[in-house]
Amino acid sequence: MHSYSLIAPAKINLYLEIIGNRPDGFHELAMILQSIELADIIDLEMRDDKSFLLHCDHTQVPVDGSNLAYKAAELMAGEFPEAFAKYGGLDITISKNIPVAAGLAGGSSNAAAVLVGIDLLWNLGLTQSELGELGARLGSDVPFCILGGTAIATGRGEQLAPLPYLEDIYIVLAKYRSLEVSTAGAYKSYRQEYGHTYLRDTESLAARAAAVHSGEMVKAILQKNPQEIAQKLHNDLEKVILPTYPQVRELRETFSQMGILGTMMSGSGPSVFAICASKTQAEEVKLQMRNRFPNPDLELFVTKMSHRGIHVDGQ
Ligand code: ATP
Repeated sequence: MHSYSLIAPAKINLYLEIIGNRPDGFHELAMILQSIELADIIDLEMRDDKSFLLHCDHTQVPVDGSNLAYKAAELMAGEFPEAFAKYGGLDITISKNIPVAAGLAGGSSNAAAVLVGIDLLWNLGLTQSELGELGARLGSDVPFCILGGTAIATGRGEQLAPLPYLEDIYIVLAKYRSLEVSTAGAYKSYRQEYGHTYLRDTESLAARAAAVHSGEMVKAILQKNPQEIAQKLHNDLEKVILPTYPQVRELRETFSQMGILGTMMSGSGPSVFAICASKTQAEEVKLQMRNRFPNPDLELFVTKMSHRGIHVDGQ
């Protein structure tokens, strides 16, 4: 094959707890991540020369070396120089559907797709865990984006324990196009305000991370109970983002008045999602949100939870 088209799904956080500092400067986290059907499409096509050329017509997405998809290609070329010499460079085309800088892991998912696609194009035969290890070097969310489905993520978010997958749970997603939140900035603010509450000794950190495995959210997921899942949503970063961004708070408050099962900001925001009881309710909630917020800057999506990570289009 000389080309592949890959589906790169977004993720939401059903649970995000910040439990302490790590020696590497990152936060120690306990999260539950969930793939959704909203996805970017990444087309990879072999070139006759040794260059990686990025194409994306979305104004908020860089097409230079700062794009995480480009970094993924460079990483593969560096790790597998013989395959790179044999197969050469690539045209990488990103068709962007996932809102940018939204807490939905758009960039991470694009990078994950490039790793999976190059593995296929260069016949490397890497395992899921080998791909995950490479992905973790690019970003904490990349290993989950490769795996997909529903998973507990600890450490920086790169240590994964898959859970039984959830399907046919519909969600509405809201994000102001022009409102971007830096993930690093959100965690920095949290450290400044709540750093004094962090667990400090290694044993307590490990115990808290382990506790998520037997926590209420995992029980709800094992029961595949959307009502319970929606009740147990949790995101520590809301404590710093909601007071700073009244627009995000307003979206969340409005969702919660619409008879939905539950609502929460995803990751570092500013996207907010609402878990709905049915597809019909999700469509209705989207309509009501649009009437309430006619501002075209607000992007609204109906999507649903998915069990798939990066996959080849049509498979
Ligand atoms: P995460 O949830 O992993 O923190 P996010 O959804 O908050 O990610 P992204 O959509 O990945 O954020 O974008 C964060 C920033 O990264 C953007 O401001 C953009 O300039 C840059 N970026 C680099 N590569 C990409 C990419 N492939 N897609 C989108 N943004 C990218």
